Amino acid sequence: MQHGIEWAYTLTVMYAWRRSRDSWVTSLSAALETIMAGAAWPQARVGDTFHDQPTFCSLCGESRADSLHVNGDCPHMNSMQDPSIQMPNKLIPKANREAGDMPCYWLRGLMPLALGHIPEDQKNYHDKYY
Ligand SMILES: [Zn+2]
Repeated sequence: MQHGIEWAYTLTVMYAWRRSRDSWVTSLSAALETIMAGAAWPQARVGDTFHDQPTFCSLCGESRADSLHVNGDCPHMNSMQDPSIQMPNKLIPKANREAGDMPCYWLRGLMPLALGHIPEDQKNYHDKYY
């Protein structure tokens, strides 16, 4: 994030979801906002902060239930048949390779400015959301 965030791309889904009147979209939107703000507390973060709490995944037993595990690597979560979980599973290998270099992108959904190339004809696309 030292070079900035591509806010137009980063917030596109959030602004689109805010127009929805479906309650399940509102719930997803709130979850996404929590993750983007860095306010999610996976079990590893809880255990690292409060030493009387475990760091392991209660679903599969992995020793560290960090953001990458909870949102991508957990075999229990990956075995669920929910389409909203199955669709992003194809990105897990790429997330594992790149999360160390781009944690803001893979763990919080914030697109680094260096990755965001906006075509000329869509430069002001995000303006309609503000
Ligand atoms: Zn797990």
